[in-house]
Amino acid sequence: MIKGKAGVHPFEIEKPKIKQNDEVLVKVKEVGVDGTDANIVRYELQDIREGSGRIVLGHEMVGVVEEVGSEVKSLAPGDIVAMTVRRGCGICQPCLHNQSDMCMTGLYTERGLHKRDGFLTEFVVDKEQYTVKLPDGLERLAIFTEPLSIAEKAIEQIRIIQSRLPWACPHPEHKFDSKQWGSCKTALVVGAGTLGLLSAALLRLSGTMTYVADIVSEDSLKVHLVGDMGANYIDARNKTPRELVEICCSVTGNLDIILEAAGAATTAVELINYMSRSSIYVMTGIPREKLPMKLDAAQLVRQIVRYNQVIVGSVNSNRKHFEMAVRDIPDIGVRFGNMMNEMITHCFGLGDYRKAFAIDDKNHIKTVIEVDPWK
Ligand code: BGC
Ligand code: ZN
Repeated sequence: MIKGKAGVHPFEIEKPKIKQNDEVLVKVKEVGVDGTDANIVRYELQDIREGSGRIVLGHEMVGVVEEVGSEVKSLAPGDIVAMTVRRGCGICQPCLHNQSDMCMTGLYTERGLHKRDGFLTEFVVDKEQYTVKLPDGLERLAIFTEPLSIAEKAIEQIRIIQSRLPWACPHPEHKFDSKQWGSCKTALVVGAGTLGLLSAALLRLSGTMTYVADIVSEDSLKVHLVGDMGANYIDARNKTPRELVEICCSVTGNLDIILEAAGAATTAVELINYMSRSSIYVMTGIPREKLPMKLDAAQLVRQIVRYNQVIVGSVNSNRKHFEMAVRDIPDIGVRFGNMMNEMITHCFGLGDYRKAFAIDDKNHIKTVIEVDPWK
């Protein structure tokens, strides 16, 4: 993006070089485009570093290591890698302890989003600590590492918070620190975009009875993918938030988890009214418009207090979540077949990059730009 100019524009930059011993030079293979990128372009939300007139877009990437600095231990030329997005402020304790996703000063930067060049270019250099190795054979699905890491973090929040309630069911093997933690629990995921589907996949891996709500018809690819995971689709058109929750509660009587991944602000807030007792609601969508609404504040606060409810926001992810994603990509493949491959509904060559930021299609899920196509 170029300062003051609407839309996406190409520009030349120098090939980056390794300058420090802990850095790696990576040849970019693919860049994923998500709703955040599309919104940045659509609403002209340029967030360019002071002193610069442009920013390279792209925060979801997969590449191949070309060269490593002398102190780099975990990576070697030829390795398939994904890079994390956020770079910490260097001041607050979370940032100093590899948790810049929880930065407390707000002085962080994000590659391709917030004051730091992204990955939609041929080569990138960054530190080993931000570069996560993927096993060979994962080339095609590696582009999901970043979006899946966002889902991993959101679900980690659920597990941390709900560890307060180890006796949600009579089975010790369903405790929040066990693999099958979601069994005997019910979740509603709002939005069947990339983040919603990946979150639903993780919930299903943990045994959670999962409902996914969106506004597409039953014959759409999204609904088919929801079914492949053994989750239930709810067509939210013509349904009130109360009706959505009633459907989710029809089997177990309780909705333990709500995960908002659509950025549909009004529905997101209205759903709070129908949260179950001791339940948790994690919000991940970032709405951009202004949407004032009326609500009964007393009723809302009363309910949150009396029902021990937790509403939590979750943004970004750190290296640990990327590593969790790398572990879970093969599991999702084994359990839900071709799901991730099918999620790539739009794929463009580098020359067609503009189209990738302007897709207007309700059935669209994941867009990938092939910078240097896999052979
Ligand atoms: C990215 C996150 C980022 C957030 C806000 C999302 O699309 O996946 O890494 O923190 O946008 O900029
Ligand atoms: Zn149980």
